[in-house]
Amino acid sequence: MIRFEGVTKSFPDGTVAVGGLDLVAPQGQITVLVGPSGCGKTTSLRMVNRMITPTSGRITVDEQDTATMDAASLRRGIGYVIQHAGLFPHRTVGDNVATVPRLLGWDKDRARARSLELLERVGLPTEYAGRYPHQLSGGQQQRVGVARALAADPPVMLMDEPFSAVDPIVREQLQEEFLRLQGELGKTILFVTHDIDEAVKLGDQVAVLRVGGTVAQLADPGSLLADPYDDFVADFVGRDRGYRGLGFRSAPSLEPHDEPWVLLGDEPSVHARGDSSWLLVVDHDRKPLGWVEPGRVHGAVAEKDLHRGGTVAARDGSARAVLDSALSSPSGRGVVVD
Ligand code: ADP
Ligand code: MG
Repeated sequence: MIRFEGVTKSFPDGTVAVGGLDLVAPQGQITVLVGPSGCGKTTSLRMVNRMITPTSGRITVDEQDTATMDAASLRRGIGYVIQHAGLFPHRTVGDNVATVPRLLGWDKDRARARSLELLERVGLPTEYAGRYPHQLSGGQQQRVGVARALAADPPVMLMDEPFSAVDPIVREQLQEEFLRLQGELGKTILFVTHDIDEAVKLGDQVAVLRVGGTVAQLADPGSLLADPYDDFVADFVGRDRGYRGLGFRSAPSLEPHDEPWVLLGDEPSVHARGDSSWLLVVDHDRKPLGWVEPGRVHGAVAEKDLHRGGTVAARDGSARAVLDSALSSPSGRGVVVD
C-alpha cells in the first residue's frame, strides 16, 4: 500500500506542483490519479520512487517511509511505466525486458526465460524478442514497457499515462489486457491519466486532482460519476464523457422500485464509433450498482454481468434498441438520459 501524508512539492521557480496530497493506494488495487494537465500527477508519481524529492510530507510504501530507504532498493520494489515506453533503443526487445533481472544477478538463461514469459503475458508474440524497439508499433512498445516493469515482479507499479500515446482502438485493447493481467497479478498500482474515461474504466478507486495537486474527490468510479463532489469534479467528469446530462439531477425522477434501474446514455465523444452507448445500473435508491455492456442485456440485468468501472462502451447497436430490450423484460425498468 502506498500512502501520501500531506505531501507537497514546490519547484525552485515557485511552482507549487503538489499542494498537500493525502491519499492511500490500497494493496492489490488500481488507484487512478486523474486531472487536468499540470495538476501534479506526474510529480506525485515520481515522488513515490524518489525520482523527485518531496518538499514536505511523507510517503510510505508498505508502511516504510520512502525517505529513509535507499533509492535503489526502493525502486527494485516499484515498476515504472511511462507514456513513450522509454525502451533502450540499442537493445532487443528481449534484452530490454531481461535487463532488470540481469541487474538483480539472475543468470542469462533464467533472465531470458523470464523475458519470454513476460512478453507472452503482455500479448507480444515471442518472435518479437529479437527485434529492436524501432521495429515495433507504439502499442507494442508499450507492451514491452509493461513487461519490463514487471520483470522483477515488483509489488507496486507506477504507471504514467502508459496508454495515452496510442490510437484509440489499440488503447482499448491495452486497457482490457492490462485489467486481465492485473486480475492475475494483483499489484498495488498507482495509475496516472488525464482521461476520465480511462480512469473510470481502470480504477478501483479514482482520485480527481485539481491544479495545485490536491485531491478534489476520491471515490469508486460509479460514485464519482453519480455523485461528483463539486462543480470542478462535475465539470471534469462531464466535459470529457458527455456526462453533463446524466447527473441524476437532470434525469426524470425515478420511482422507487425493487428491481434495478438501467440508465442509458449515448457516449459518442468517447468511442466515436457508431452508436456507442453505455448502461449504468442503479438500485432503487439510485446508487450505482455497476456498468453493463448493452449487448449483455437480455431482459433483466444479472449481477454477474455488472462491471464496476469495467467495460462501459458498447461496440455497436443503437441506444434505443438496447433500452427497448431492457424495457421489454418483465423486470426491466429503464430511462433514457440525454
Ligand atoms: P501533470 O503530470 O499533472 O500534467 P506535472 O506533475 O508534470 O503535471 O506538473 C505539475 C506542475 O509542476 C506544472 O505546473 C508543471 O509545469 C510544474 N513542474 C513540473 N516539473 C517542474 C520543474 N522541474 N520545475 C518547475 N516546474 C515544474
Ligand atoms: Mg504528466
